Amino acid sequence: MFIGGKKDSLAVGVAIPLLPLRDMVVFPHMMIPFVVGRRSSIKGLEHATSQGGKIFLTAQRDASVEEPTVDDIHRIGTVATIIQTVRQSNGNYKVLVEGLHRGKIEDSSKHPDGFHEVVVRAVVEQVPEPGEVREALQELTRKFERYIKISQTLSLDAMLAAIKTENPAKLTDTIAAHLDVPIEQKQAILEMLNPADRIAAIVAILDAEMDKVRVDKRINNQVRKQIEKAQKEYYLNEKIKAIQKELGRGEKGGDEYKQLRDKIAAARMSKEAEERALHELERLEAMPPMSAEATVSRNYIDWLISVPWHKKSRENKDIKRAERVLDEDHYGLEKVKERILEYLAVRQLVKKMEGTILCFLGPPGVGKSTLARAIARAVNRKFVRFSLGGVRDEAEIRGHRRTYIGALPGQIIQMMKKAGTINPVVLLDEIDKMSSDFRGDPSSALMEVLDPELNSEFTDHYIDVSYSLSQVMFITTANVIHTVPRPLQDRMEIIRIPGYTQGEKLEIAKRHLIPKQLKAHGLARKGVSLSDEVINFIIEKYTWEAGMRNLERSIAKICRKLARFVVEGRTESLAVTDTALAEEFLGVPKFRKPDLERSNEVGLAKGLAWTELGGDILNVEATLMRGKGKLSLTGKLGEVMQESAQAAMSYLRSRGASLGVDRKVFSRIDSHVHVPEGAIPKDGPSAGITIAAALVSAFGRVPVRADVAMTGEVTLRGKVLPVGGVKEKILAAHRADVRAVILPRDNKKDLKDVPDEVREGLQFIFVDTMDEVLSEALVEPLSPLPDIEELLDEIAREDRVSGSELPN
Ligand code: ADP
Repeated sequence: MFIGGKKDSLAVGVAIPLLPLRDMVVFPHMMIPFVVGRRSSIKGLEHATSQGGKIFLTAQRDASVEEPTVDDIHRIGTVATIIQTVRQSNGNYKVLVEGLHRGKIEDSSKHPDGFHEVVVRAVVEQVPEPGEVREALQELTRKFERYIKISQTLSLDAMLAAIKTENPAKLTDTIAAHLDVPIEQKQAILEMLNPADRIAAIVAILDAEMDKVRVDKRINNQVRKQIEKAQKEYYLNEKIKAIQKELGRGEKGGDEYKQLRDKIAAARMSKEAEERALHELERLEAMPPMSAEATVSRNYIDWLISVPWHKKSRENKDIKRAERVLDEDHYGLEKVKERILEYLAVRQLVKKMEGTILCFLGPPGVGKSTLARAIARAVNRKFVRFSLGGVRDEAEIRGHRRTYIGALPGQIIQMMKKAGTINPVVLLDEIDKMSSDFRGDPSSALMEVLDPELNSEFTDHYIDVSYSLSQVMFITTANVIHTVPRPLQDRMEIIRIPGYTQGEKLEIAKRHLIPKQLKAHGLARKGVSLSDEVINFIIEKYTWEAGMRNLERSIAKICRKLARFVVEGRTESLAVTDTALAEEFLGVPKFRKPDLERSNEVGLAKGLAWTELGGDILNVEATLMRGKGKLSLTGKLGEVMQESAQAAMSYLRSRGASLGVDRKVFSRIDSHVHVPEGAIPKDGPSAGITIAAALVSAFGRVPVRADVAMTGEVTLRGKVLPVGGVKEKILAAHRADVRAVILPRDNKKDLKDVPDEVREGLQFIFVDTMDEVLSEALVEPLSPLPDIEELLDEIAREDRVSGSELPN
């Protein structure tokens, strides 16, 4: 160990050892320890110690040079005194030196021991006047203090002591020595001989460093905050898990989410739907499991999972088999079945059919919905039914938005869930009973459902992702077509089922209704039977309908009674062959053939009407009374029927003379036309000729034939125009045991749809004019009435007889 003496100045011309420094610059006034390892440097160090302890320290230009020559080092360095050397166990020296002053190499030579010796000239610093640099110095110290504070790498107290000096040369060197900057910058400062220059350079360095430190700090702060946030979240999540576990639901929640995730994957939804479901599941996971919001969320996911996305019934394409199924389920209806089979055939050949929707149109109970069910069975698809009767709200079809409390998908999506396959037969029952109000028009939503262009992207408000209905086979039913919105009508292929004749009803009852009801009542093999006579008796006395509803109901009623017999052991009377027994079961007959109107009467004409329940008989009454020529109308008359009555009256006036009616009559007599409420016909002009016949009969005092029924529109000039619903009307005439039917000639073509059995029992009279109607319908030709007074008397007599007080 060597403790050197301290001697500031250097003798001129004396050579001292050079110690090249790799990675540091030593400034005057500075004490610094470092390790010396290079052999040549150790030799130099030892030599210096032996020669009085002076040594020249200067930085290498390139730290990587192992054995630098004088050319590899900076020429300006610091003359220093060696304060202490300690030899370490590995042969290196740890040295403590103190910088004395700047020096510049004048001359150099290599010592035989391998180190360089240099002759150094002390460089003279330009010492400024203290006043010149005072302010600059103050700024420098201020900045340096700040730098120490924020950089936190230097000890504040030690540094404050070190810079307690007024000497600018010393101060700048001390500060420069402590800056954390590259060697080149430090060397540059060392080479500045004017302290004022050094001040400026150091201030610039401090500014830049401080900026760096500030940015660093900001970034560090941000990073720290982020880490803190992540840690906090992690901590809280763990805590929630722990709490839930403590409450005994933590594991279950995790399970549930996993199950939902699996189900979502298994549902094979559309991409859009799956993304939505997973997104919702993520939200759900973040919610408290028992909250109302979570329930809403869970329901939504459940709905997405439970509607079918790809499951499909394997369709039966065998038309022969389909035909067999249709025949099994339904008697008769040959034309209807034929059209159904054609429809199924075309469906197989054409992918997107225009107007692809079948619509069964007809009165209740004619088998419309059971036909639809049979079609589903025939093609082997699932069947679901949705009754549109009374649907007024678009939301019933399309659902409510999820923001509504208790929102659900609309019926269409619910039907699809129920069906469980993407290609069911969906029956939209009673499409004519749908109405619209302020809540939006359901028919426009239905349009979207039924339109093959639109229904592949049907959107339910609740489900809120598009859902394809393109594989669904829609079938609709309606009692009437005129209340169905036009655009919907255009989408549908309408198949009319007008109703059954007595004979057909008997067959249907025997083949289908009775076996079905026996089975339903557990009477299948109990020896129960109904004779044809009894069935016909039920049809005639207990039902008055185009379809089968009441007949089926009556049969069910008998089955109930018989079931009781079986249970009570009264097996002797299970074959019902006696109409009296049937009457006992069913009570007093509800209908009787209208006998009253069997006799020919003045002013009473029998019309044929078309109603939602099929065809019906419509009795029109006309009576006269003293008055001023007014026409009053009562009963169930719509606007168009009232106009028909006016037209009939006008016809009568214009033809009065030729009909033998005195002109004056019309100004002295009021006429009154009444249509009984019993039958509720659709408003229309087809009662025209009936009203006219009743009026003419009343004025002409000639009775109308009771066994003739008629339908037709009448013009003011007495022409008869064709009408609709002829088939149903003829079936009604047949039921009512009418002998002849008067029809407009243009309706002759409609007769081909009427079953032979019906056609054969009726006489058809085709007419062009009202005159022809009258000649057929009145029991005798009109003859001129002798006198108006006589007519009035007769009317008065009639009034007294009937005792009725008619309005005027
Ligand atoms: P709609 O839908 O037209 O009101 P349904 O389909 O409900 O009538 O039919 C009523 C009942 O009549 C059902 O039990 C049905 O099986 C029976 N039915 C109707 N027409 C026939 C038929 N042609 N063959 C067999 N049963 C029939």
